[in-house]
Amino acid sequence: METLVVPAGEGHAFAVSEGQKVRVITPKGQQSADFFACSAGDTSEWLSPPHTWMPTRSLHPRVGDVFLSNLRRPMLEFLEDGADGLHDFIIAPCDAIRYRQFGVEGHHRSCAENLVVAMRELGHEITAGPLAVNFFTNTVVEDGFIFSTPASPVVKPGGYVLLQACMDLTCVVSSCPYDLEGPGWAINAPGGPTEIHVELL
Ligand SMILES: [Zn+2]
Repeated sequence: METLVVPAGEGHAFAVSEGQKVRVITPKGQQSADFFACSAGDTSEWLSPPHTWMPTRSLHPRVGDVFLSNLRRPMLEFLEDGADGLHDFIIAPCDAIRYRQFGVEGHHRSCAENLVVAMRELGHEITAGPLAVNFFTNTVVEDGFIFSTPASPVVKPGGYVLLQACMDLTCVVSSCPYDLEGPGWAINAPGGPTEIHVELL
């Protein structure tokens, strides 16, 4: 087993072979992990939440779901949920534009930037803006509106998900750097982002 440590607010890219299992863990709890995946042979084929929820009919990832690509091919199966179902399919990854719109001046790390930097380390230049499955992100859909809830329930320390690859993949996990208090989106625990662990089994 190989363990990767994704530092707080940063990203990490790694290869996953067909049949291999991936465990993503929030050691301290309440830390969103944006999970990106593309076909190892074609970086224009990405894991796509909207394509996935069409057959599953669920706006939240659930055990047994098969995450699909933008070409509707099976990419990963969701095998185990050690985080009580607190995951999100809806929110687009944070990016520099969004932080500017929130009033942040100067540079702020983002999941979109973490994706580009991590993929560049493996020799891939990402110019599009793929979506992600947001593990450990507590969103609630009510009457057609979406909310994020900072209070109970929260993802406990050691919360995890276990996935299995259906094809050879290149994956990126971003420890979401979101740390704003004003905009009404409580994505991570107060006190700033914390690290994410990835185990390749
Ligand atoms: Zn983010």
